[in-house]
Amino acid sequence: MSSPIWHPFTQHGFGEPIPRVSHAEGAALYTEDGRRIVDAISSWWVTTHGHCHPRIMAAIAEQAGRLDQIIFAGWTHEPAETLARGLTEMMPPALAHVFFSDSGSTSVEVALKMALGYWRNRGEPRHRILVMAASYHGDTIGAMSVGARGVFNQAYAPLLFDVGTIPFPAADNAQRTFDALEAACGGPERPAAFIVEPLILGAGGMLIYDPATLAEMHAICSRHDVLFIADEVMTGWGRTGTLLACSQAAIVPDILCLSKGLTGGAVPLAVTLATPTIYAAHFSTDREKQFFHSSSYTANPIACAAANANLAIWREEPVRERIDRLGARQAERLSRLSGIANPRRLGTIAAFEIEDVAPGYLSALGPQLLAFFRDRNLLLRPLGNTVYVMPPYCIDEADLDAIYAGIAEALEAVRA
Ligand SMILES: *Cc1c(COP(=O)(O)O)cnc(C)c1O
Repeated sequence: MSSPIWHPFTQHGFGEPIPRVSHAEGAALYTEDGRRIVDAISSWWVTTHGHCHPRIMAAIAEQAGRLDQIIFAGWTHEPAETLARGLTEMMPPALAHVFFSDSGSTSVEVALKMALGYWRNRGEPRHRILVMAASYHGDTIGAMSVGARGVFNQAYAPLLFDVGTIPFPAADNAQRTFDALEAACGGPERPAAFIVEPLILGAGGMLIYDPATLAEMHAICSRHDVLFIADEVMTGWGRTGTLLACSQAAIVPDILCLSKGLTGGAVPLAVTLATPTIYAAHFSTDREKQFFHSSSYTANPIACAAANANLAIWREEPVRERIDRLGARQAERLSRLSGIANPRRLGTIAAFEIEDVAPGYLSALGPQLLAFFRDRNLLLRPLGNTVYVMPPYCIDEADLDAIYAGIAEALEAVRA
């Protein structure tokens, strides 16, 4: 029986089996046919504290019995107020204003529109956006425009807007990146903003660069009065070892995007945080200067309640210790793998390339590995020949061992 569902990033022409998941707990997914799958990628980087965390589930149930949805233009509600206050207490104090949306991609669209609105309302319109090579910021047209061009967006290329691309800071040549950024910031067409994934480029292949480089890029933008947008959709909520990746570089962006782990990964929600300067440029008695953005479910109360439970978990549970422990366990297991290239780790994320294999997302290896891992009850989804492990923070030793045993077996199979 074929399903009417059209799945994301799936070539249905291959007829690959699509497992049906009936329930989940912690780092485990359970299928209808009775299998227990270890979620080694946090269900695409969203699940932080584990699936069906009791506090988050209870908060959702409680809120669902009270207020489901309310227009957010000109109206407000307790879960959103509590969340906005909680976020401003938890995040760097300069990020004093909270704009809600529904996904990482929309939080990026909002950030870009805030940056353009800021310059326009100041009477100094600027439209050019600077980006880093190999970046990923989402799949809507604006988010694709500021992301790397490639097979993912070839069909839509004519619609994507032009950006200035700064090279990825190679470990041995960050100066090239600084020089390019300096030149682009000081160029004749003054850029509105530079958008970056701090410390690690996720979908681009788990490419890591150091905090000093991030700090220097921020300093260059500050010197040239170019807004700095940090897309922490993946890196936020502890993934890189700290609540925000930016804090490792001791920088505060002008605009910050958060989503994935905002609700602990339970329900969709996103926020774009901005400094008083960005907000003030829109604050006026002139309606033309207001921020022209909304979506039907902006600050949905049930999603906000889930996020409030996430914030409570961060405040009251030893989340940072769990993150440190997972990081150490990842490092130890990664060090025992052989036949891999470029092993690297940042916080809870471990990644490497499989040696002697043609790189690229469409390399035949990717789908083969996916099936190989699926057959071994592991949810792993390599990016071409880049394999990464990014589990929920609650994963135990046995499940982590199962992931690395599956990887070691895959490496054997590739070599054979
Ligand atoms: C996942 C991701 C996005 C897009 O988030 P969605 O919720 O999938 O729209 C944007 N930026 C980064 C860095 C991401 O990893």
